[in-house]
Amino acid sequence: MTSQRTRERLIQRLKEQGITNQRVLDVMRMTPRHLFLDEALSHRAYEDTALPIGYGQTLSQPYIVALMTEILLSLGPRKKVLEIGSGSGYQSVVLAQLVDQVYSVERIKPLIDKARERLRLLGLRNVRFSHSDGGFGLPEYAPYDAILSAAAPNVVPEELLHQLGPDGILVIPVGPGDVQELLVITRLGDSNNFEERVVEKVRFVPLLGGTTR
Ligand code: SAH
Repeated sequence: MTSQRTRERLIQRLKEQGITNQRVLDVMRMTPRHLFLDEALSHRAYEDTALPIGYGQTLSQPYIVALMTEILLSLGPRKKVLEIGSGSGYQSVVLAQLVDQVYSVERIKPLIDKARERLRLLGLRNVRFSHSDGGFGLPEYAPYDAILSAAAPNVVPEELLHQLGPDGILVIPVGPGDVQELLVITRLGDSNNFEERVVEKVRFVPLLGGTTR
């Protein structure tokens, strides 16, 4: 179930869906997604579907993780990345293998505790988790070369745009309701001008305000 063959099948599927970045595919092939799920669900870890992680939240679908990561790297290497919605920590681990430093914010405390433990077990030291409301970004460590949100706000939070560095890229699902648009917003040089494009329709959990213990 967690065999190399099962993982390879997932990678094949990602390629068929249009993922071409070899580094992203390699990292996803090597990342043990089953460690990010409860044991009862781990046999489904290499299916290309979102899966529940408790607290009404989900581990993102592999295709979406691959797509967002590929877009995030599309303008060249990124050093410092902010992730909003750590959840299980799976996306954080994928990013941690592709960029220098990841800052990851999550509003549900027990999810952060579990994610931290998983990263420790995997020996990854370049992810810093914060228990806070990612709707305000994470100003302490801004600016970021890229920001990726795994939760959907109704409109793009201004704070996230302010926290993007020169040529920074923001990948975020936006819109009310169950289906949103995946947006890619790029800061043009060090100006205050941004370019926006819509990638495709996606399904994310909503970005909620405040934090819970
Ligand atoms: N990337 C995660 C996906 C988690 S789902 C994974 O691979 O497991 C999205 C997460 O966003 C949920 O854990 C949810 O609690 C979190 N979230 C929602 N609103 C938030 C906010 N305002 N600030 C931080 N995290 C938020």
